[in-house]
Amino acid sequence: MFLDIHDLDLHPVEFKEEFAPGTIDFGMDFEQSGPLRSEGRADLVEEHHGKHNVVRDIRLQGEVSMRLGFSCARCLEPVVQEVEAKFDLLYRPLGVDAGEAERSISGTEAEISYYEGDGLLLEDALREQMLLAAPLKVLCREDCKGLCPQCGKNWNAEPCDCTQQTGSQSWAALKDLRDKLEH
Ligand SMILES: [Zn+2]
Ligand SMILES: [Zn+2]
Repeated sequence: MFLDIHDLDLHPVEFKEEFAPGTIDFGMDFEQSGPLRSEGRADLVEEHHGKHNVVRDIRLQGEVSMRLGFSCARCLEPVVQEVEAKFDLLYRPLGVDAGEAERSISGTEAEISYYEGDGLLLEDALREQMLLAAPLKVLCREDCKGLCPQCGKNWNAEPCDCTQQTGSQSWAALKDLRDKLEH
């Protein structure tokens, strides 16, 4: 959905959109495992810079949510998590801030981004919000025991035979090293 500055000039645009998995490209970071849902509105905000210069910003407010599929950071099992974000963004025309030491922000707490040409693609804004909201690391459960570094067995299912040895083996390795250093 393209939010066109000329439409916004006439009236605010409200949106309630759903995007099926695959519609928005999230790269390799995570998998979209349900529709992305979003709702909100876009307004035109005019900033007066001096007498004749009017900067036309797009304010985008709303919320977005989606089910994301991850791999557990410890055991690599698939985990699905609902991620949501509320946003209040201000898009200024690209280049308007170039060379300006001082900016006047139109009295909102909005975060500033830039749009190019006649407006912005809602999908791009939603994609960015999801990438910001998505956790970097997800565990299948807080006390996930992870995989055995030696045999690769999932310790959540059952301990493996290497478990007991790990400690003594690293001590053995240390002792070897000390022996080497001493001679
Ligand atoms: Zn896990
Ligand atoms: Zn093992």
